Amino acid sequence: MKKLEMLYEGKAKKVYKTDDEKKYIVEYKDDATAFNGVKKGTIEDKGIVNNKMSAVLFKILEEKGVPTHFEELLSDRESLVKAVKILPIEVIVRNVAAGSLAKRLGVAEGTEMKTTVLEFCYKNDELGDPMINDYHIEAIELATKEQVEVVKKYAFKINEILKEYFLERGMKLIDFKLEFGVFDGKVILADEISPDTCRLWDVETNKKMDKDRFRRDLGDVEKTYQEVLERLEK
Ligand code: 5GP
Repeated sequence: MKKLEMLYEGKAKKVYKTDDEKKYIVEYKDDATAFNGVKKGTIEDKGIVNNKMSAVLFKILEEKGVPTHFEELLSDRESLVKAVKILPIEVIVRNVAAGSLAKRLGVAEGTEMKTTVLEFCYKNDELGDPMINDYHIEAIELATKEQVEVVKKYAFKINEILKEYFLERGMKLIDFKLEFGVFDGKVILADEISPDTCRLWDVETNKKMDKDRFRRDLGDVEKTYQEVLERLEK
């Protein structure tokens, strides 16, 4: 597999074309941003943790019937993935109130909620990723109604699989963000699943084991990312 020209550089990853037009190589960076790019920094070896952690989780999800873009881990920072067309929607699943939901609704962070909450945001940096609903998605043609139904079905299934998987490793899955893409006409899971995109709290102590350590200057950022990966690889 030949790595060809860079197609796209995002905040945390670079995407390269390959000599197979149906495959891309994703390269994970150590760059960290928060609050829509206002806070910038570096988390040493974050790219390695996020690449390896995504590989572990995508494999498990595939085994349990969720199609993903993941093909193969190529190196510490690189994975081979299917060349999907990303739907411009962020899918957020929440089990416990935290972050923007806690703020927006005035619910204390850590409050258990009656049901799982699913949110959509429009992936658009200029607009600051505004929250949208099914109707907006259909109205401005971000995805079809059928695609949204598939996304919802997978999002809840992924939540059930990951909640259990993290809990077995001493972590509570508070919330997370997913992105989906279209490949060969089908909706599949894409992007990454990592401490950048999930909130994970230690089951015993409620210690935050995710990007909130960077966002909120809680310290031990690198050490905590490594610890999450170690718990997953055990
Ligand atoms: P919140 O809306 O509370 O800020 O985020 C909810 C969950 O989705 C958190 O786990 C957070 O990490 C993730 N999330 C939401 N938006 C983004 C985003 O633009 N980038 C990343 N990496 N994660 C996000």
